[in-house]
Amino acid sequence: MTHPALVGLPSLVFVLVPELTRPLPEEGRADCGACPLAALPESDSAHMSDEVRCCSYHPMLPGWLVGRALRAGGVAERVVQRRMADPDGVRGAGIVPSDAHRGRYRAEARGGFGRDVTLRCPYWVGGARACGVWEHRGAVCRTWFCRHEQGVAGHHLWMTVRDTLRVVEGAIARALAHERPPPADDAPGGAKRGWYRWAAARVDGLSPGAVVCPELPSLRAALRDAFDALAAPIPDVVTARVAAVLPLPGDRVRLIGYSGWDPVDAPRSVFVFMSRLDGVTSWADAGGDPAFVAELWRAGLLEAASGAPFAPGMTVTVRRGGQEPETWHLPPDQVPEWS
Ligand code: SF4
Ligand code: SF4
Repeated sequence: MTHPALVGLPSLVFVLVPELTRPLPEEGRADCGACPLAALPESDSAHMSDEVRCCSYHPMLPGWLVGRALRAGGVAERVVQRRMADPDGVRGAGIVPSDAHRGRYRAEARGGFGRDVTLRCPYWVGGARACGVWEHRGAVCRTWFCRHEQGVAGHHLWMTVRDTLRVVEGAIARALAHERPPPADDAPGGAKRGWYRWAAARVDGLSPGAVVCPELPSLRAALRDAFDALAAPIPDVVTARVAAVLPLPGDRVRLIGYSGWDPVDAPRSVFVFMSRLDGVTSWADAGGDPAFVAELWRAGLLEAASGAPFAPGMTVTVRRGGQEPETWHLPPDQVPEWS
């Protein structure tokens, strides 16, 4: 069965990339109908506003996807027509971010992603899915999940799907443009709409051989590797890999591994365990609880040891709200103190 994230793609995509018919993680931890990040208090570092959520972004849509949205009618057609009312970014071959949105995104994205409503996507309609072009959205939107059931391995798989879809989207667009060149960027909106609709209809009859995509073999191999990595067991010997630490009230700490939106909150004593992971000692001998180790591994807070032992202890980057990051060097078996 087609994964919900891929529903609406033309069958041509699955012919070109048969790996996309393999079961992908459901990603129930990113339940957009009950967004877990919008439910967090504003003070939480992972909070997102329910008024924008992860749609703090203006995607690029090739003409054939724009045409499919127009052809669908209803809300999809309405939001595309609304976007096209502003000619900035409405090109002959598709729709890209306006200069205004691009400028805001560059200036605000670091702190504003998920919070700043001025970054909201023009196709946003609110509600559970929030997306007016859901079945016609592009590679980046289809493959973005704030949290992953299989953590860092799931994230890697979806990013590989994204890269593959992006390349295939472009290759299809080139094949269509070769058959019928799109109108100029300054052509009237009606001419662009006509070409988008033609491209949407033509893509259904396009033969795979017409889509020239030299990158496809290596992308398909990367996809197969990413699927295999999902099933890989946790190695016996691992080392800590903490991207950032946020002190929490009380005796707890937030550890950020592969994503700030999918952290692990733990007692500070986690550092005692982590500092024993010296590249030689197994996590079991270091006193790791199997379920907790599995969660740290999922979140990308542990990685396979390189094989070379190193001095016990660990270095972590600590970020406190609004302050410059601090670097801590922790000797083994020590719970750090902070105020
Ligand atoms: S993917 Fe976006 S909308 Fe869906 S749950 Fe995550 S932050 Fe919320
Ligand atoms: S196209 Fe849809 S999913 Fe993508 S940012 Fe816009 S509203 Fe969100």
